[in-house]
Amino acid sequence: MKPEFHNSSPEPELFEKTQRVYGLLKDFYGIPEWRKPLPPIDELISTILSQNTNDINRDVAFHRLKEKFPSWESVRDAAEDEVIEAIRPAGLANQKGPRMQAILRQITEERGTLDLDFLKGKNRSEAHQWFSRFNGVGPKTAAIVLQFSLDIPAFPVDTHIYRVTGRVGLRPEKMNVEKTHAWMERLFLPEQYGPGHLNIIRLGREICHPRNPECERCPVNALCDFYQDINAQATNQSSNLKYKPQ
Ligand code: SF4
Repeated sequence: MKPEFHNSSPEPELFEKTQRVYGLLKDFYGIPEWRKPLPPIDELISTILSQNTNDINRDVAFHRLKEKFPSWESVRDAAEDEVIEAIRPAGLANQKGPRMQAILRQITEERGTLDLDFLKGKNRSEAHQWFSRFNGVGPKTAAIVLQFSLDIPAFPVDTHIYRVTGRVGLRPEKMNVEKTHAWMERLFLPEQYGPGHLNIIRLGREICHPRNPECERCPVNALCDFYQDINAQATNQSSNLKYKPQ
């Protein structure tokens, strides 16, 4: 089954290429397991904490917050410096703490509760729209909550996914991160969003490093534009050397 393409549809060849990349990564890494889903408000806070840090620091900060405060209502109503202190391991605590509290207050004012389960009945675009009102909740954060907590298919694009998809040639080179979310949602099938997202991140962390990617051992190198370009350049250089006029 092919996805329903809307505006600015990717070409069918690109869809086929994406499907082959997905299959190669599935063969190489398997179907990844996501940890036990968190309630949507927990996933939202955890994802905000994850901004500009790694998973370990995010988890330490998240657990400190849960240990110190018995509920999200108490985080919302706490003194700012107490929240900042609890989440310090996640970095940027002076920004993240007040921002999280502002979001918790805004949700309470609007909904009268911090329960976000009402979003489960919405479609992807409505749920995205709802999250976009909060300062500090961008498309990646919203997509993570949708995909991994609300069971609404969405494709989060982080720095690894943006880099790998650019190198492989799954998106136009100059497409920005925001637009890449919707683009990936057209190229992958909804049931592939979670495993595709997690396997591409793993490839980016373990093999397709920002510097010195290990292309020779990469499972998708036969399909990768970056790798093909490097090989073509190397071939040109060696034939130039070979036929250099004396
Ligand atoms: S072949 Fe190289 S550049 Fe392409 S995805 Fe693999 S590691 Fe990254």
